[in-house]
Amino acid sequence: MNAAEEVARRRDGDDPGHRDLFHIPPATGGDHPEVAYFAGNSLGLPPRAAAAELAADLADWARLGVEGHLEAGRAWLPYHELLTGPVSRLVGARPSEAVVMNSLTVNLHLLMASFYRPAGARTRILIEDAAFPSDSYAVRSQARWHGLDPDAAVLRLRPRPGEDVLRTADVCAVLAAEGPTVALVLLGGVNYLTGELMDIPAITAAGQAAGAVVGWDLAHAAGNVPLALHDWNVDFAAWCSYKYLNSGPGGLAGAFVHERHLGDPALPRLEGWWSTAAATRFEMAPVSRPPATVEAWQVSNPPIFAMGPVRTSLELFDKVGMTALRARSERLTGYLAELLDEVVAARPLHVITPRDPARRGCQLSVRVSGGSAGALTRRLREEYGVIADAREPDVVRLAPVPLYSTYHDCWRAADALARAVAP
Ligand SMILES: *Cc1c(COP(=O)(O)O)cnc(C)c1O
Repeated sequence: MNAAEEVARRRDGDDPGHRDLFHIPPATGGDHPEVAYFAGNSLGLPPRAAAAELAADLADWARLGVEGHLEAGRAWLPYHELLTGPVSRLVGARPSEAVVMNSLTVNLHLLMASFYRPAGARTRILIEDAAFPSDSYAVRSQARWHGLDPDAAVLRLRPRPGEDVLRTADVCAVLAAEGPTVALVLLGGVNYLTGELMDIPAITAAGQAAGAVVGWDLAHAAGNVPLALHDWNVDFAAWCSYKYLNSGPGGLAGAFVHERHLGDPALPRLEGWWSTAAATRFEMAPVSRPPATVEAWQVSNPPIFAMGPVRTSLELFDKVGMTALRARSERLTGYLAELLDEVVAARPLHVITPRDPARRGCQLSVRVSGGSAGALTRRLREEYGVIADAREPDVVRLAPVPLYSTYHDCWRAADALARAVAP
């Protein structure tokens, strides 16, 4: 063990995290039995508790059949209510404001059905140019759905020439200048590519001052950074739970609607039988009576066996708490950032994520000048057992996750990058 590796081991002893609560995949390459996993921003690792919890829900189905709706250990009809407390604490919502349902892009569409209401000159949607493609396709298809030309209706925010990330002041300046034409602002809270954490309260306030509705895609923010959606007066938000929230591939998503919109009869929604108040669901009435909560945005009865892992995971976040997680996250990512500083200095690599910990979550994105991100991540995995994630053509993303990643993982990633990329 060299001196740097010893430092990493010592720091793990002092600041251990909760790795023992997770399954860590075995490595197929390199000198270590387990992978150094940095792809929790893409798909989180499974909590050990998930399998037994899920098995209990399955056993209820075998034992009870349809009676499980009311008689299961965790009854299926009100199952989503078990998630309401933990998920609202996670995103800083009132319990009436947050719900787990559907998948992320579906939730964005359901929320835009209510909150993207182009009228008169106010028709445009403001997104970031580096938006995740699903968001880009979603807003363009919404514009078309309203009979608008998506090229004209979607306004894309770009960093200044020569810069990698957006500046809050520039976003606010665009809102001030273009405000009267902007119907909706829909940005990523943490950008999936650059790892930049946006100033959610400042941009929300600027967008609303310009007369727009402001929604946030929190796919890379939920479970990564502390959120206070209610206090920040965010209009609506959605996030998936399979990234930092470790609920499994395709795991169910979350949705937030601010209290001041709840129960507003003027707000259109797309409805199904789960939109009506629970007490009225089996009246089989032709007209719904939605509750004055975000549950009015639910459409279908939820997939219980997909809700289970979300519940298990959210309980873990509830127990550990976002404040403690964020503190460890800043230490862990700060450590990786220091190690990367040395590696990139002599190589055609460049960290594009903001240096200021207040402007990033746990992810650090490394640009590989003239190289292929895909080829590099393949080498990292096959030769060193380091699981990073490539966004072609040239960005490698490394996300040390405070629940289960270690300082030693960070040392392995920096060491592997130094060996894999010639100075
Ligand atoms: C991961 C991610 C998605 C994925 O969308 P799904 O509907 O869950 O498939 C969408 N938007 C952003 C910003 C993401 O990071």
